[in-house]
Amino acid sequence: MPRLYDSRKRILVTGGAGFLGSHLIDRLLERGHEVLCVDNLFTGTKRNIDHLHGNPRFEFMRHDVCFPLYVEVDEIYNLACPASPVHYQHDPVQTTKTSVHGAINMLGLAKRLRCKILQASTSEVYGDPAVHPQTEDYWGHVNPIGIRSCYDEGKRCAETLFFDYWRQHNIPIKVARIFNTYGPRMHVADGRVVSNFIVQALKGEDITIYGDGTQTRSFCFVDDLVEALIRLMATEESFTGPVNIGNSREFQVRELAQAILDKTGALSQLVFKPLPQDDPLQRRPDISKAREVLQWEPRVALDEGLDKTIDYFRSVSLL
Ligand code: NAD
Ligand code: UDP
Ligand code: UDP
Repeated sequence: MPRLYDSRKRILVTGGAGFLGSHLIDRLLERGHEVLCVDNLFTGTKRNIDHLHGNPRFEFMRHDVCFPLYVEVDEIYNLACPASPVHYQHDPVQTTKTSVHGAINMLGLAKRLRCKILQASTSEVYGDPAVHPQTEDYWGHVNPIGIRSCYDEGKRCAETLFFDYWRQHNIPIKVARIFNTYGPRMHVADGRVVSNFIVQALKGEDITIYGDGTQTRSFCFVDDLVEALIRLMATEESFTGPVNIGNSREFQVRELAQAILDKTGALSQLVFKPLPQDDPLQRRPDISKAREVLQWEPRVALDEGLDKTIDYFRSVSLL
């Protein structure tokens, strides 16, 4: 039921206690909205949202999106899903359920409320890409039966569900394909490359490079990413995406390791470990569509973003 006397929105963020979700919530509250954060705290933590308790426009609900959710909101950002390979491979069946059942439930909710819903999809839908850089019309190169498939195929199926709810039920959907994003509030034990290397450097431990470190990724700072998600949600109903969101500067993993060693002054050694199965060799977004439709491009270069992220990890316990 639309509220009669209040123009501010009540916004649901699933996965809101996680890395990206908690930053998104901060920005939405700053803009005067009310936020309902739904999270089962699988990889997220209450620490990420501690500073919001006492804010009357913020509410936390511990809930697993694999189960139905009956709430009243004006917009939905669906971010609930473990994102680090270490975490999503820990319980792969649950990962697929979270992507697929979670999407069905959140789309069912959006259908009942007739509200906009944004899906945090991923560059992983392109798999180990045969097209470089990746454009949104590339269908991808994904192994359906490997150790990354629970995440990649789960996210691909979620995209399918979003587009079918749009075609079949006319739900206003937005699909963001997010490329590697980093920043403060990544969990110390997250396992993704930027946080791993920084934590290892600050603890004086070996830096673990998988493979020979020549594989590439393009790293987007969290503030840039959040701005793009909010702009995407604000687009006209006719714009569904998918739209790539990420930074188009591409780095080798070994270059990232060296940059972090230089910045931290750590004396850690680089050690080389086996490359995990199906680890994509290269990844860089073509962000022409985001530039054009969202009038957006990343502002924070890796150099500045790493400084902020290193400062964050210096300020928290690394145990
Ligand atoms: P994260 O692990 O920090 O956050 C995910 C959040 O979802 C956590 O708070 C976790 O507890 C919650 N969650 C997991 N399963 C849930 C469930 N069944 N029910 C309710 N909550 C659940 O990861 P992140 O980096 O913040 O990623 C957020 C979203 O963005 C994910 O959907 C991820 O796939 C997507 N994404 C992130 C990146 C990136 O580089 N950070 C890249 C591509 C896509
Ligand atoms: N759903 C929900 N909240 C709602 C409405 C629906 O969680 O407010 C869930 C419900 O469990 C359902 C799913 O979303 O299974 C899909 O809803 P839809 O209306 O598309 O399907 P149906 O109810 O017809 O199976
Ligand atoms: N990686 C690495 N050392 C680590 C963690 C990751 O060399 O300690 C590599 C990983 O093999 C991949 C890249 O860094 O090639 C990015 O990994 P991440 O888990 O951050 O994200 P992905 O893009 O693979 O999902």
